[in-house]
Amino acid sequence: MDTEESSPEENVKEKESEVKESAKRIHDVLFEDFSWEKENSGLVGFRNLGDTCYMNSTLQCLVHCPPLVGLFCSSEFDVDRPGKAPLVHDFSKLLRNVWQGNRRVLAPQDILRDVMKLNDVFLGYQQQDAQELLLCILGNLDDMTQRVLPLPPTKKDLKILAKFEEQERKEQEGKDQEMESLVIGATVTIVTEVNEKGRYGVKLNKVGKCISLRAQNLVPEDVENCKEDEDMEEEENKKKEKPKKLSRPPPRKAFRSPITDIFSGCLRNETECLECGHVSKVLNNFQDLSLPIPGSEMVDRTVEERKATPPPRQGLFGSLLTAVGLTNSQTTLDICLHSFCTSEELIDSEKYHCEKCKRKVNAKKVMSIALLPDVLVLHIKRFNYHAGFWGGSKKTTLVDFEATMDMRSYLHPDFVDHDQNENSEFELYGLVRHNGSLSGGHYVAYCRRPDDAEKWYCFDDRSVYDIPLSKVLQKEAYLLFYCRRTKSDSIRQQVWNVLDKNLNDCNYKDSPDDILISSYFFRKLKHYCHIGPLDNHRLLCPHGKILPVDDKRFVENSVRIPLKSWKALEHKFKSPEKGEIPIIKCIDKDRPKFDCIQCQSQQDYQSVSRYMSDKYKTENFYCIPSGWAEKWREFADPFPTPRVKPPGEIDNSILIDSEGNLLQDSDAYIPVNEYVWKYLIGVHGGGPEVLVPKRKREAQRRKESSEHEAENEEESGGT
Ligand SMILES: [Zn+2]
Ligand SMILES: [Zn+2]
Repeated sequence: MDTEESSPEENVKEKESEVKESAKRIHDVLFEDFSWEKENSGLVGFRNLGDTCYMNSTLQCLVHCPPLVGLFCSSEFDVDRPGKAPLVHDFSKLLRNVWQGNRRVLAPQDILRDVMKLNDVFLGYQQQDAQELLLCILGNLDDMTQRVLPLPPTKKDLKILAKFEEQERKEQEGKDQEMESLVIGATVTIVTEVNEKGRYGVKLNKVGKCISLRAQNLVPEDVENCKEDEDMEEEENKKKEKPKKLSRPPPRKAFRSPITDIFSGCLRNETECLECGHVSKVLNNFQDLSLPIPGSEMVDRTVEERKATPPPRQGLFGSLLTAVGLTNSQTTLDICLHSFCTSEELIDSEKYHCEKCKRKVNAKKVMSIALLPDVLVLHIKRFNYHAGFWGGSKKTTLVDFEATMDMRSYLHPDFVDHDQNENSEFELYGLVRHNGSLSGGHYVAYCRRPDDAEKWYCFDDRSVYDIPLSKVLQKEAYLLFYCRRTKSDSIRQQVWNVLDKNLNDCNYKDSPDDILISSYFFRKLKHYCHIGPLDNHRLLCPHGKILPVDDKRFVENSVRIPLKSWKALEHKFKSPEKGEIPIIKCIDKDRPKFDCIQCQSQQDYQSVSRYMSDKYKTENFYCIPSGWAEKWREFADPFPTPRVKPPGEIDNSILIDSEGNLLQDSDAYIPVNEYVWKYLIGVHGGGPEVLVPKRKREAQRRKESSEHEAENEEESGGT
């Protein structure tokens, strides 16, 4: 295929501007605040689409979440899975419209449609639970922006691996001996090929002559059954001697997404068996904390066990007013959090299964916070659904909360000094309030401007008005959104200084040593309190391999930096427990087009399916060997396993004679159109090109149309 060649000078200029562009991008990501420049940006009402205030208020708290604004206004996540993640797309669009558009009121019907598809609880236009919606939206954004983060093997894994390799080596020795026995003429079953669906077995008699060929899918047991009876006993004895079979430990990996990076914290759950004293400790991730409003008995226990400050007592007059329903009873967020961390007895129906006693026992459970998230969502459990949605009840207790709070006192002592908890101060940036009864209530949101802690607004569906913070703090909160105080600018500035110096040193010139780095890393530096280690995991495919360089996600999600800068960043941000960071060279001739065999399998499946559609008709048809096509069909798969095997090069030499003429056997090949041929030869290599003779093609076409009528289409391979 022809490509337009550009002159070498043009090439250099283009590359130079590319490098400068990267530097500008890094600078913008680190320092520019694009979103809250305008007086009115962010002050957009959402139209009620029929009892959708639960959605409107939740969305307001998400579009005012500082790190989310910074991340999702960029197109970085939008290009992640084009066409396959409607909520990511629509949420990004909404954020841009809120912060960069000119409309005063928007109708978020796209998002409503997306969440209805995700969970049919939201079908219909009735009042729903704001917390449930929040978890639904965060869950989907998490799934759709997730990447694999490969982790190094544990010490235990390494031990198993060593034993496994030893076993493999011994097995190989055994196999070699078996092959020898074939030569001297014993009855053996050789397994010729292992594939996903089973094994292909060939049975031979004593002198090595093939007596049956089984090409159907044989499971290993069937292969065993092929054996002649006289050999069975001997085999049985051998089996008994075999030690337990080990398998290769699976590679360790974690799934990360910007949503987990922002909202995920970690809870420590300790349960003590009251019979044997065994203590189990478990760490669990959370995206929000659901806090029950403690009753008076629980409050007393909390105050005693955790030395918490008791909530202000209501005087006699106050209690009277509460009793007749004129005022609400009162408690504090501090007591709710402390009571969440207070021990709880698991007895009667809640008995706990002790792993030591191996039965249900009475136990004591204590929850505490191990790791703090960057954005902490607190859900005050006001609704009691035990009697079903319509028969439930609502607690109207006023929960006193502050605009700032320190989470240190709720941390487990072992985790107080953990890196991720370095800063435990949080600032309130938004809340959702529920007004009225369970079935007929109304939701409203209150949010502040990201750059001004004093400027608060009420978002009541389409109307938006300002409100003093003192009034916001008196509201009956249902969901509270706290953002961790970001660190000073110093780290950002230090990183920029290093990058700027290195870029200056090389005069912003392109170097073959340049490294590509995930731009997400710079976004983390800008928006997150807890930055975490340097990593490139957003440049990896879902299977943990480096994406192909021409992949759209790669182009949008990476910036090039000098090798020196990479080394400096590695030195500052590398974390040994996160394993090796893949170093991605800007120019790497040795890198295969596809690093990942699973991605290639998917790509083959999708591309060939597309090229076989009616849109891609061509004049010429090309031969590919039937045997190769068979292997390719096994390979191309929309959901391939890691063990998928590529078909190898296309070898057409078996189809032609020494003069290059096509041999007569028409079963030996299948014809494919030009698009399919060019794609397959481009990816898998091989040759030579063999055209299907015209006469054959006519016959093929007739056959095709009759097949078409019979509606008997093959999914892949030949046309
Ligand atoms: Zn026990
Ligand atoms: Zn992959």
